[in-house]
Amino acid sequence: MITPNMHYADLKDSYLFYNIAGKTKAYLAENPDKKLLRLGIGDVSLPLCDAVIKALHSAVDDQAIKENFHGYMPECGAPFLREAIAEHYKKRGVMLSSDEVFVSSGASDELGDILDLFDRSSSCLVIEPAYPAYVDANVMAGRKIVHLASGKENGFLPEPDEATQADIIYICSPNNPTGAVFSREQLQRWVDYANEKGSVILFDAAYEAFIEDESLPHSIFELNGAETCAIEICSLSKTAGFTGTRLGYTVISKSLVRNGMSLNDMWVRNRTTKTNGVSYIIQKGAAAVFTDEGICQINDNIKIYKNNAKVIMEALDKIGIWYCGGKNAPYIWLKCPNNMGSWDFFDYLLKEIQVVGTPGEGFGACGEGYFRFSTFGSPEDTKEAAERLVKLLS
Ligand code: PLP
Repeated sequence: MITPNMHYADLKDSYLFYNIAGKTKAYLAENPDKKLLRLGIGDVSLPLCDAVIKALHSAVDDQAIKENFHGYMPECGAPFLREAIAEHYKKRGVMLSSDEVFVSSGASDELGDILDLFDRSSSCLVIEPAYPAYVDANVMAGRKIVHLASGKENGFLPEPDEATQADIIYICSPNNPTGAVFSREQLQRWVDYANEKGSVILFDAAYEAFIEDESLPHSIFELNGAETCAIEICSLSKTAGFTGTRLGYTVISKSLVRNGMSLNDMWVRNRTTKTNGVSYIIQKGAAAVFTDEGICQINDNIKIYKNNAKVIMEALDKIGIWYCGGKNAPYIWLKCPNNMGSWDFFDYLLKEIQVVGTPGEGFGACGEGYFRFSTFGSPEDTKEAAERLVKLLS
């Protein structure tokens, strides 16, 4: 009889969103007249911008005409999109050749798939609280996981020290769930560590478009030496509302070499074996994001989410609750009042004011006692939720 991958038995039940859904459903069943305000979801609520919609329509029309029709696309991405992304990086002073950019169907796919590049004996460091996929993808591969807890004392931005030992290092900045963003100096210490030890950083930049403080790095490649130790994984999901449209990109410099192997060459080989590329239509829509018109329009949408963040932050300031995030990230991470546990606070908000957030404990043990609000909801719901919070907790 075949033996399945028994590492799946080591996975902890993903009870976070399941529990949230179960608790809210039960509450609504008992209180059908109550209006629930959901600040828990990490999905966007605004539609795709006009430039993207026009590009998608035009690409659909191309597929109807023999001369313009596209079949299989290049596995690593269409040259027009790889070039547009490389140009986008250039505006931040990051010089890439287009064959260092790989187009993907989204960051989630890449965060797990990229592990193919590393030996199973390599250890993996996850800074917690963390996006749950980092741990789960590595548990599935049977890797040793080093959990690095962060907390209020270091602003949820820990740095490596003498004791740090890891081959693969996940860094998410701006962070989900804490909204914390590494400064150049802090991130440089991780880059220097990785270069010194020969580790590889997997830098998740899914929320870079939310950074407004000019001094903060959007890309790890803005740091000295990152090209020899980092892979950047990015996504248009939150930047441009592509959660249901699906498109991401991964940057691997040609200078990233371990044991004489070029990780860029290895990823080309991996992609040409395991994918047949992203559809022409979606890549055309994505290319529109990087035009002047597209950038202007997606920024208008991001401003709406940022205003939601402002509304929640003002409410928390008013009631004197500690939080981080919100300014350069679409998540606000707060300390539950009166030393409440994450799930107790969840139940309290649901019962008293029908506001749904995400208990911090679901992102790792050190998230206990904290709570996440997402700013991706509608401005109306966000405003009402903020008013209810102030009324309850003042
Ligand atoms: N990385 C982080 C930190 C996320 O929060 C998410 C989605 O919420 C993703 C990656 C996944 O993005 P995508 O929709 O591109 O798969």
